[in-house]
Amino acid sequence: MPIQHTYDAIVIGAGPNGLAAAITVARAGRSVIVFEAKDTIGGGSRSKELTLPGFVHDVCSAIHPLGMSSPFFRTLPLEQYGLEWIQPTVPLAHPLDDEPAVILDRSIAETGTTLGPDADRYGKLMEPFVANWDILSDAFLGPLRPQSLRHPYVLSRFGLRAIRSARGLAESTFKGERARAIFAGVSAHSMLRLEQSPSAGFGLVLSILGHAVGWPIPRGGSQKIVDAMASYLRTLGGEIVTSTEIKSLDMLPPARAILCDVTPRQLLNIAGSRLPAGYQHQLQRYRYGPGVFKVDFALDGPIPWKAPACSRAGTVHIGGTLPEIANAEAEVWQGKHPERPFVVLAQQSLFDATRAPAGKHTVWAYCHVPNASSFDMTERIEAQIERFAPGFRDSILARHVISPIELEQYNANYIGGDINGGIQDLWQFYTRPTIRVNPYSTPCKGLYLCSSSTPPGGAVHGMCGYFAARTALSKSLS
Ligand SMILES: Cc1cc2nc3c(=O)[nH]c(=O)nc-3n(C[C@H](O)[C@H](O)[C@H](O)COP(=O)(O)OP(=O)(O)OC[C@H]3O[C@@H](n4cnc5c(N)ncnc54)[C@H](O)[C@@H]3O)c2cc1C
Repeated sequence: MPIQHTYDAIVIGAGPNGLAAAITVARAGRSVIVFEAKDTIGGGSRSKELTLPGFVHDVCSAIHPLGMSSPFFRTLPLEQYGLEWIQPTVPLAHPLDDEPAVILDRSIAETGTTLGPDADRYGKLMEPFVANWDILSDAFLGPLRPQSLRHPYVLSRFGLRAIRSARGLAESTFKGERARAIFAGVSAHSMLRLEQSPSAGFGLVLSILGHAVGWPIPRGGSQKIVDAMASYLRTLGGEIVTSTEIKSLDMLPPARAILCDVTPRQLLNIAGSRLPAGYQHQLQRYRYGPGVFKVDFALDGPIPWKAPACSRAGTVHIGGTLPEIANAEAEVWQGKHPERPFVVLAQQSLFDATRAPAGKHTVWAYCHVPNASSFDMTERIEAQIERFAPGFRDSILARHVISPIELEQYNANYIGGDINGGIQDLWQFYTRPTIRVNPYSTPCKGLYLCSSSTPPGGAVHGMCGYFAARTALSKSLS
């Protein structure tokens, strides 16, 4: 490595959290350099022509409610550097067999019109939380800290519901199948069993976000988010070096702080001998969750949905009723591959003409599978889409498939295809990666973890990087 001068901080990994950490350090007037293993920056926020020329696919993340509402991103001038959010006509559609689709609309009242008998119950559940989203996001998009307790009424009202299982909350709150189904689909983003706590919390947060900020997509692809971050970082004097995998801390030039956008297993490899045995043991016990099997399609036309409302949605959840989705997710945890998987599907090109040639379309779809699975789910994903859109297969021009093992080869942070940097159950939500007063610090002086394996966990929001850098600034760079 040719770089010889001393930096205030080094960041390993140019994912959204690594870049957020670097920006936070650079904004404080400190020198920073980022090393990225791959030849492009962005980690889980990249876009590429995966299928055919002119078809731009999101390789990993696609839909960004947390990106749009991230308290950290909101402080950055990302729009000046090319980021433009697009709001699909409605955030989410959830088709059911032989009846109209359920819709998550920006308006709670409009959503209610698709929920049958549960319109009022849904409104009563959502309205107070949507009105207080700023308080909730401040408390939950970060580590546990004293300010989390500043609004005890709102927070306890939310917390008592969020801590429940999605199935428990849906079945005790809603009477009809339609509201239960859409809540099950949104909650399945937790990648937990729907009988597991706090799967309801994920369902609540993503539903609230649908109303409070929408489920937007970046014009041109998710790559635009990190490209804007990198451009801004460079204006602050930060440097980025790609194609440089850090295999050991000994490879690095001198620095007062090192922030690692990696998960515990990689940290053990990179820093192992410098970490005390007890901390190494805790990192070894860190748990990873199910993997993801993903298919990107280039289509000759839009998906021929049976329920017309699905064509107005950026995201479509395919899996049917709550019992069906709960069963599919439970099977994944039993090490099985569901015959009818729960499929998360995004159809960005319906709302962003830059994604595909005129008249053609891109589709992004994935389902959950056991960690490190090599089973090919393409046929089952396509059958699920075909179930709600007969004729879908006839419109496929090309497809690109990525299994959990290939995801890990693509990005070392996706251990066994786990896209959240570790399970996000009750135990590991705030205590990721280990139980420490400050989860971003390590017992090794000047060494910090800044990836989604720290609070508040997975998704493109940069909050892990921001809080880790704040820790480094106060402990090592003051
Ligand atoms: C299929 C899929 C769909 C997703 N959908 C969404 C979505 O719709 N919305 C959303 O918000 N999130 C989504 N996510 C999750 C999101 O992508 C991640 O939570 C997010 O990218 C985590 O950011 P990070 O910076 O912590 O890690 P990453 O984005 O994983 O970045 C880590 C970076 O570090 C680099 N690196 C690792 N080890 C080293 C090393 N030793 N030396 C140098 N560099 C190294 C990696 O190459 C990578 O660039 C999805 C992820 C996947 C895979």
